[in-house]
Amino acid sequence: MPNNAFSILSCLYIVFLSVVYFSKKRIINIENKIYKYILISDIITVFSVLICWFTIMNRETIPIINDFFSKFALIGYLLWTIIVTIYVYYIYNEKKTNFKKKFIIVRNICVCLFVLLSILIMLLPLNYYSESNVAYSHGPSANVVYLTAAICMVLWVIIGLINHKRLRSKKFIPIIVFIVLSIITLIIQKINPAILLTTAIETFVTILMYFTIENPDLKLLEQVEIAKEQAERANKAKTDFLSSMSHEIRTPLNAIVGFSQSLKAENLPESAIEEVDDIIEASETLLDTVNGILDISKIEANKIEIIDSVYNFHKVFDELVALSKARLGEEKPIEFRYSIAEDTPKYLFGDYARVKQIVLNFLTNAIKYTEKGYIDFKVKNIINNGICRLIITVEDSGIGIKKEAINKLFDKFERLDNENSTIEGTGLGLAITKKLVELMHGKIVVQSIYGKGSQFMVILDQKLVDEKDIPKEEETGALINYNYSNKKILIVDDNKLNLKVAERLLKSYSVQTESVQSGFECLDLIGGGNTYDLILMDDMMPKKSGKETFKELKEDPSFNIPVVILTANAISGMKEQYLAEGFNDYLAKPIEKNELDRVIKKYLG
Ligand code: ADP
Repeated sequence: MPNNAFSILSCLYIVFLSVVYFSKKRIINIENKIYKYILISDIITVFSVLICWFTIMNRETIPIINDFFSKFALIGYLLWTIIVTIYVYYIYNEKKTNFKKKFIIVRNICVCLFVLLSILIMLLPLNYYSESNVAYSHGPSANVVYLTAAICMVLWVIIGLINHKRLRSKKFIPIIVFIVLSIITLIIQKINPAILLTTAIETFVTILMYFTIENPDLKLLEQVEIAKEQAERANKAKTDFLSSMSHEIRTPLNAIVGFSQSLKAENLPESAIEEVDDIIEASETLLDTVNGILDISKIEANKIEIIDSVYNFHKVFDELVALSKARLGEEKPIEFRYSIAEDTPKYLFGDYARVKQIVLNFLTNAIKYTEKGYIDFKVKNIINNGICRLIITVEDSGIGIKKEAINKLFDKFERLDNENSTIEGTGLGLAITKKLVELMHGKIVVQSIYGKGSQFMVILDQKLVDEKDIPKEEETGALINYNYSNKKILIVDDNKLNLKVAERLLKSYSVQTESVQSGFECLDLIGGGNTYDLILMDDMMPKKSGKETFKELKEDPSFNIPVVILTANAISGMKEQYLAEGFNDYLAKPIEKNELDRVIKKYLG
């Protein structure tokens, strides 16, 4: 075997590794940069050694070139050793404080040393030995490299020992391998100086390093994994925050809205009624904001659902008109026009709550961003193939939207003009609306002239309803006349205010109520043989939550009282979770009158 066989193999390997390394996407960090120079210095060494071997073999031809390449190979070795020293220093100190400054100093010292030693290598003499297939160089110039390598290795060991805690890191494996192989080579070359292993060892260690420190694929995957974990953690933190924020805001709001509503039913003087109305309006605005944030969190968690049912579209239209009129008030000189095409079917199949939410958002914005003129709310339709295509437009003569801002209109938390800053809003309404329309396979068209007004059009397909599927009679609003005086409801809530609110709201149904402040008391009552027609149960109670209480109630197979969770925890997916736990129904705080009506009707009716 020729004595350059290892060098030729090294050359092939390092070329292959370089192609792989430089063609791949890399992470830009210090470690990677150092490795890049290690690889380059190895390439310099391997190629110079080959040229050097060739020139020594043909020593008689051009002596200056022979000398130059032989010394260039030595400089290659020197460079590799010094860069590895920088690398060793880096991996054992990177996490220390003030490391960057020290690292730059060490790097600069190493660079100066390299320059000085390279000059020395060039100036000192080098001897050559060549015979048939065997050729190598030796002498003072080469000794500079061997001595530097020996000192560097001692330094690596010292750095390793000082930082022995990190010695187990896989990054140190190539360094240990290099030291061990260098000692073995030294012994082998003492026996036979013609066996040249230095290049092979250097290349082997460079390749090894690629797998221990510098595997771009693994590193990228690792980083993606870390980023994913961080995102998941952040998302969970956000959900937790929203959940607690929702809970904390809804609990006092429940008391404010509940008491204001029941106050309104009392015989109050005119001025007090106005103030109560203002309280209700302000709480509703606050609740809208909380709900908007919750909706956007549901959207982001892909937890928003479209729940289709048969509904009376004309009733939704009337409600929207009534709500807009109420919100418009008398303060602004705005003419509110509204019309619904006569041929619009009364009953449709779709998600009426979401349809209402979408259009209400357009109407609310029109009211908010118009100072004078008109607001025109129109509903038209096209019926085709069992589908009623609703074309709903809300036009206003308000402030309008700049052309370049229209694209940002549907981005969350994006509020356009600075001039609007006095107008209340979160910039969530249209982001939610857009998502809802997408979920319903509809379309939104916006036209606006800045300073003149805007037109928002939504196109929604709703199914037509067969005669037989139309509900007999709509029974809303009639509940107040029902007399539930023979029915009994147990309310379980640790918060006294909440209990009071629930009792006040239930008063209008003439139902008997009993209140307890913990799950334990509830269990005692039921265990003691008391019966009720309905239990309204709060969830977040100290010591025993609503869920735990419910679970224990269910342990008795004869227990058959419907239990409705009454909670301020209205975060996305909560309703589904409670229903999956086995609760019969779900009521969010603040309690909405319509929702309470529905529950009372369903379980006591
Ligand atoms: P919000 O009204 O809470 O700020 P929206 O998402 O509903 O949030 O609206 C986003 C932005 O779009 C508003 O801040 C406003 O600048 C602009 N905008 C929406 N509707 C209108 C409209 N009818 N006229 C003028 N600007 C509007």
